[in-house]
Amino acid sequence: MSFAFTCRSCGSAEGELVLDLGVQPLANNLLRPEDLAKPEPRFPLRLAVCRTCWLLQILDLVPPVQLFSEYLYFSSFSDVMLRHAREAVERYVKEFSLNPQSLAVEIASNDGYLLQYFKAKDVPCLGIEPAANIATVAREKAVETLVEFFGEALGRQLARGGRAADLVLGNNVFAHAPDTNDFVAGLRALLKPAGRIVLEFPYAADFIEKGEFDTIYHEHVFYFSLTALMPLFRRHGLSIFDVERLSIHGGSLRLFAGIDGAYAPKPAVAQLLQEEQEKGLSSIRFYQGFAQRVLELKRTLVNLLAELRTQGKSVAAYGASAKGATLLNFFGLGRRELEFVADRSTYKQGRLTPGTHLPIVAPENLLQKHPDYTLLLTWNFADEILEQQKGYRQAGGKFIIPIPEVKVV
Ligand code: ZN
Repeated sequence: MSFAFTCRSCGSAEGELVLDLGVQPLANNLLRPEDLAKPEPRFPLRLAVCRTCWLLQILDLVPPVQLFSEYLYFSSFSDVMLRHAREAVERYVKEFSLNPQSLAVEIASNDGYLLQYFKAKDVPCLGIEPAANIATVAREKAVETLVEFFGEALGRQLARGGRAADLVLGNNVFAHAPDTNDFVAGLRALLKPAGRIVLEFPYAADFIEKGEFDTIYHEHVFYFSLTALMPLFRRHGLSIFDVERLSIHGGSLRLFAGIDGAYAPKPAVAQLLQEEQEKGLSSIRFYQGFAQRVLELKRTLVNLLAELRTQGKSVAAYGASAKGATLLNFFGLGRRELEFVADRSTYKQGRLTPGTHLPIVAPENLLQKHPDYTLLLTWNFADEILEQQKGYRQAGGKFIIPIPEVKVV
C-alpha cells in the first residue's frame, strides 16, 4: 500500500506503514447523551515508521484545538500518578539542588497534580496547560498556570521575560506534540545554560514488543525510541545525558537532556542505544508483524467475550480511557458485548464512550450490578484498580486484562 509520508522529525519521505486502524472517532471525545443526535466525527488512524530516523508516528492528524479545548483527563484521579509525581519532585529537588531562586516549568501541567509538590518544597513553578477547564482546577490549588500550547515561540517569550527554567518537565506530552521540532526548539529556548529537561513518554520498544496498539489515538502522535530521539535533540543543540526505563503506562522512558556540553552523558545512554541496535529498532523487521499480532489479540478477546455471552455471563468494562476507546472501536466491541464502563472520574460519569456509546458510570456499579466479568481497559493501572475493586473480586467478579495478552484474574 502506498501513502504520502513526510517524517515529522527528519523530513524523510521514506516511510513504512506499520498498522492501519481504519477510521476512528476521537478517543477522548466522550459524548453527552444529547450529542448522539449529531454526527460523530471520525478520522483515519494509521501508524508508520520513518525508514531514515526510525521514528514511529501517526500519519493522520486532527487540529489540536479540536482535541484539547475541553479535556476530561484529570491526573489527580489516579493515586499511582500522584505518588509517581511526588517521588519524582522530591528526587529532582534534592538531586538538582533546586531552591527558592530556581524555576521549574511543567508542560501539560494538567490539574497541578505534580507542581503542587514543588510548591510544598518552596521551589517556584509554572504550569503550561492548553485545556482551560483543567488549568482552572490547577489555579484553584494556587499553581500558576498559562493556558497555552508549548512551542518555540512560548519558550522564547518566557525566557525573554526572565522566566528561563532550571528544570523543564514534560510527562506524557512530548509524544502528543505533532510539530516535534518546534517542541524541542521550545525546550532549548526555555532552558537556562545549566538547566535540565526531563521528559517521560511511552517507550517504542515496549509498545511494539507488548503489542500495546490501544495506546494509538489521534492525540498520541509519536512512539519514541532513543535511536529516533538522538538526531532530533542534536538538531536543536541539546544532548541526552541520561535515560531510565520506567514500568509506568506499559513501559516508559524518562529522558534527561541539557544544552550541548552542559552534562557528560552517563553510561545508560550508550547502553540503551546498544540494546536498541541489538533488538533491531533501526531496521524494518522490528516493526513488521505488529499488525498480525494485534489481529491475533483481537481474535482471542472477541472469541472469549462471545463464549461468555453463550454461557449467559454478563460483562462490563472498567476505565473510560483513550486507550479503551481505541481497543473497543478497533475490536468492534459495543453494547452487545458490554453493559457499561465504570470510571472513577466524576467528569466522565454520565457521558458515553466515543464510537461505541457505552454509558460511563461510577465504579460502585461493579458491586451493585455485579457483572460476572469486567474488561479492564486501563490495564496500565491494573494493580491500583484491582486493589480498589477488592470487594467486587471477593464477591466473585473477575477482571479480563487484554494487554499484552488476554488474561482472566
Ligand atoms: Zn525521520
